[in-house]
Amino acid sequence: MTDTASWHARALELKIDGRAFINGERVAAASGQVFDNLSPIDGRLLGQVARCDSVDVDTAVQAARAAFEDRRWAGKSPAQRKRVLLKFADLVQKNGPELALLETLDMGKPIKYSQSVDVGATANCLRWYGEAIDKIYDEIAPTPASSLALITREPVGVVAAIVPWNYPMIMAAWKIAPALAAGNSVILKPSEKSPLTALRLAELGLEAGLPPGVFNVLPGFGHEAGAALALHMDIDCIGFTGSTRTGKLIVQMAGQSNLKRAWTELGGKSANIVCADCPDLDKAVAAAVGSIFFNQGESCNAPSRLFVEASIKDEFLARAVAMLPRFEPGDPLDEATVMGAIVDATQMQTVMGYIAAGKREGARVLGGGEAARLESGGYYVQPTIFDGVDPAMTIAREEIFGPVLSVLAFTDIENAIKQANATPYGLQAAVWTADLSKAIQTSRALRAGTVHVNQYDGDDITVPFGGYKQSGNGRDKSLHALDKYTELKTTWIQVG
Ligand code: NAD
Repeated sequence: MTDTASWHARALELKIDGRAFINGERVAAASGQVFDNLSPIDGRLLGQVARCDSVDVDTAVQAARAAFEDRRWAGKSPAQRKRVLLKFADLVQKNGPELALLETLDMGKPIKYSQSVDVGATANCLRWYGEAIDKIYDEIAPTPASSLALITREPVGVVAAIVPWNYPMIMAAWKIAPALAAGNSVILKPSEKSPLTALRLAELGLEAGLPPGVFNVLPGFGHEAGAALALHMDIDCIGFTGSTRTGKLIVQMAGQSNLKRAWTELGGKSANIVCADCPDLDKAVAAAVGSIFFNQGESCNAPSRLFVEASIKDEFLARAVAMLPRFEPGDPLDEATVMGAIVDATQMQTVMGYIAAGKREGARVLGGGEAARLESGGYYVQPTIFDGVDPAMTIAREEIFGPVLSVLAFTDIENAIKQANATPYGLQAAVWTADLSKAIQTSRALRAGTVHVNQYDGDDITVPFGGYKQSGNGRDKSLHALDKYTELKTTWIQVG
């Protein structure tokens, strides 16, 4: 355990290296351009970061392509790749305090979670795909005896991964771990709002034994480095996580260039349905509140729409409001803090704009509703609960991506399901009921990639994560993610 003062002291001593990582080396952007990297904790300048553009993208693609063509990584046996990924995971764990500190400084999440959740999940993801890759067998098709048809998996080639800022390391790991395990070369573009841990991961990957060119990291802006990756003619596949708006552009750019495979993991407006026969109301309240305020509400799968059966709504909300003080934003470098800073001024304005819209359109603030810790120089918003939300209101329809819970009452489960599905998104949902048939029927009716029953925060690397509808077309995590980064090849062999 480290106290707040020593985290602050370590933060001041940290040397920030914002240069890109191409072909196993730290390099400045070819243009020499940089951008300022500010901490949302207090607005302090952390350092300057390379502003990569299409020239750097070309250089990284050439390095990644060369690495792929000479098979310095793809040609290794799965067991050899596994050893490198396991070492990579160990190095992430060993450097956990530094990575956690970088993550917290860069995007404002509490240090307690950067250490326990983000570092742990990143290492676990690398380890899991490393462990998995030498246990997957190819297939032989049941063809006539005069022939043999082998169905094998091959790496796609050069994979670009573009990720958001809310879980910078975990989102990167969900792409790079299966892509590298499968033998691809990867170019990762972290968000311009949180580039620091991705750059450290690249160094740790090299130290673990990834050959130069196999894992490259290009920091930069979406419309520059990001668009250049999506449009590049020599990238075979793009794995994208971010907003639905950008996801649509990525798919368009992939289509108008070389028709690279484009996998999208996009936004959400997840519905959490609590029925009057919920088996454990305290647990349901803790999950509803804990999951929307976790990570400052900056989670794609946050249960931002709470549907509560009218007969238990008052009791449910009284208990929910009583929990709000626990989530009051605090210094992210204090290990007692459970809700930290919003990632930057722009996102804070967006969240405050939604809170203003909720008030203006007639929803009732039960708690929160204001900015917080203004004296810090950083960006903080109170945990906010709106009651009396109508499905037509902006806060019921749009992804807020902040600590704001919209509560809607229902009397009939059919109607609740209909409203829950009345969104362009389909990432996640939950239903709380003691009635098994109702739980299963509701789960079947909900158009979402994940449906929880009597829980919200279940999570494991073994299960696929992704959305229906405009929440995207891919699945991260689990063995299914390997499908995104492999080609299926059939080899026919004449026998006799
Ligand atoms: P964003 O779409 O603004 O940016 C995501 C990434 O795309 C960043 O690296 C950005 O630089 C890049 N980008 C932006 N414009 C681009 C362009 N024109 N061309 C290429 N790249 C471009 O999203 P964000 O604000 O960083 O992240 C928040 C969003 O991510 C939310 O909608 C959230 O729900 C979603 N998200 C989804 C998942 C999931 O697994 N489904 C997980 C986390 C976050």
